[in-house]
Order: sequence, then structure tokens, then C-alpha cells
Amino acid sequence: MPQNTRPRPICAHCDGFPTVAVTTGHTTPTGKRHTIVADCPACHGTGHVPARTRAHAPVGV
Ligand SMILES: [Zn+2]
Repeated sequence: MPQNTRPRPICAHCDGFPTVAVTTGHTTPTGKRHTIVADCPACHGTGHVPARTRAHAPVGV
């Protein structure tokens, strides 16, 4: 049985990609796509969570 043991607790909500750029569908005056940056709400953009607050901990299932 494979185990995904990692040295640091990666945020399970964003899988270690806490900040993403989302295109709005509009373009800026310079012709580039307009994007907004969104941080992961679970880890607040850090990509890591303390072990005791891990999002997908099996609790009472
Ligand atoms: Zn996260």
C-alpha cells in the first residue's frame, strides 16, 4: 500500500499550489490578459497547514 508521506504537511485543499492566477476574460490596455490572484482559503496562501488542522483528516467517518 503506497503511502504519500511528505516531509512537510502540504495543504490538502490546494495540494501545495496556494496562489493561483485566474483570468477574467478581459484584456488590459497593454493587450495582456487581465488576471486576478487568489490565495487558497484553507492555508491562506502558504501552501502548508499545521498537522492538527489538516483539511482531509479522517474524523468520524
Ligand atoms: Zn491551501
